[in-house]
Amino acid sequence: MRYFPAFMDLKDRSCLVVGGGSLAARKVRLLLDAGAAVTVVSPRLGRILEARRAEGQVAWTARGFVAGDLAGRVLAVSATGRPEVDERVAEAAGRGGIPVNVVDRSDLCSFVFPAIVDRDPLVIGISSGGASPVLARRVRERLESLLPAGLGRLARFAEAFRGAVAANFQDFGQRRRFWEDFFDGPVAGLVQRGDERRAREEMITLVNGGGAGQGPGTVHIVGAGPGDPDLLTLRALRTLQRADVILYDRLVALDILELARRDVELVPVGKAKGHHSRSQAEINALLLQYARAGQDVVRLKGGDPFIFGRGGEEQAFLEARGVAVKVVPGITAAAGCAASAGIPLTHRAAAQAVTFLTGHGSTGEPDLDWAGLARGGQTLAIYMGLTTAGTTARRLIEHGLDPATPVAVIENGTRPEEKRAIGRLANLEDLLIAHEIRGPALIIVGEVVRLAGRETTLPEAETALRSVAV
Ligand code: SAH
Repeated sequence: MRYFPAFMDLKDRSCLVVGGGSLAARKVRLLLDAGAAVTVVSPRLGRILEARRAEGQVAWTARGFVAGDLAGRVLAVSATGRPEVDERVAEAAGRGGIPVNVVDRSDLCSFVFPAIVDRDPLVIGISSGGASPVLARRVRERLESLLPAGLGRLARFAEAFRGAVAANFQDFGQRRRFWEDFFDGPVAGLVQRGDERRAREEMITLVNGGGAGQGPGTVHIVGAGPGDPDLLTLRALRTLQRADVILYDRLVALDILELARRDVELVPVGKAKGHHSRSQAEINALLLQYARAGQDVVRLKGGDPFIFGRGGEEQAFLEARGVAVKVVPGITAAAGCAASAGIPLTHRAAAQAVTFLTGHGSTGEPDLDWAGLARGGQTLAIYMGLTTAGTTARRLIEHGLDPATPVAVIENGTRPEEKRAIGRLANLEDLLIAHEIRGPALIIVGEVVRLAGRETTLPEAETALRSVAV
């Protein structure tokens, strides 16, 4: 970080602007917005600054800059467009330890003006550290369109209730949750729509009634998607950012945990094949314990929590004990991997159905309707299928599926280390060995694999596939 972002209190403080033209006028406006007492030093004033002077908004010293002009100032701006003057201002300010900005001369600046999104009292400053002011401005435009104009009103409304909320919610965590609920809730909506009278009445009830932050907490069972943080849903992101504690699986990418609050408690309960760091019973007990302590609990799972994720079991366990459960869906591995590999899971001509199946049942090999699965015209997406891949391929072929049916294996789908391999059903096991696939990996079986992008890593398979028309 080249420049440290900080917000300066300039109310009634004395600031100097050297220069009288339109560039200087722009900086003067920003300083006046912050309540500064501005003196302009310049032999002449342009139209805008002249108007401000006439209205008594700025003081004017009608001559060239001298070092003594800096006495007693907390901040200086030079916008003369004349290098020798700008340099003198920067040099004198530097000597006096006064923060100085020289317009269009980042080499002379000790501070920069960020691009500003102003929803007073909520203010956002954006800086690219001089690398690309245009980029900073574009970010500002996006934020401007994202943040409703009523946000300032909302911040002031919240400020008016800060004391009352603090008095009624002594516990820091409860207080934070109260505010989270408030900003998500109907009262905030009233404020933004301008109905402050009703908002105030309802807020008083909310504050006195203890808000929503009391009683056992809620457990959010959240799908983290296949790995790429961009594939989180907005709701998953919001839920993560307000959690007190997150219990996460080994499948969840670290980049995603980075998105949580800084002071969140992160509890790995990782289940990877062969390394059960905690049993399901232990995980259930932990969830219950955190929820009963009134915490906002997130149970974060790879992909979608209701697809081979035991989310259903956790939900039933908690609900039976009176804990509220909310589920946030996620992009399941089949959808993420298929998109990444360019394989449509269904296709009008090649697959009218898609089945998600697991290579592992609760007692080893899954008890599946192999004859049904071996019928053509459909796609199979096999989860946790690496160790049983050979058996699965044999079962399908025994039940009539063409041994030449194309298969794709996608390891670490949507993550930077993603690996893909394409081959034939009969050679599935060899394919896994040849490509050193260790998992997590998804196996896709079906004609749709022919539609994959050309990034296959097995040359002979690619040649074979190209010769078959889709
Ligand atoms: N609930 C998860 C699945 C959990 S089962 C979901 O909806 O995706 C774990 C299996 O999911 C892994 O063995 C693997 O088959 C698959 N999987 C999860 N993430 C994956 C990824 N990024 N790439 C490939 N397969 C993945």
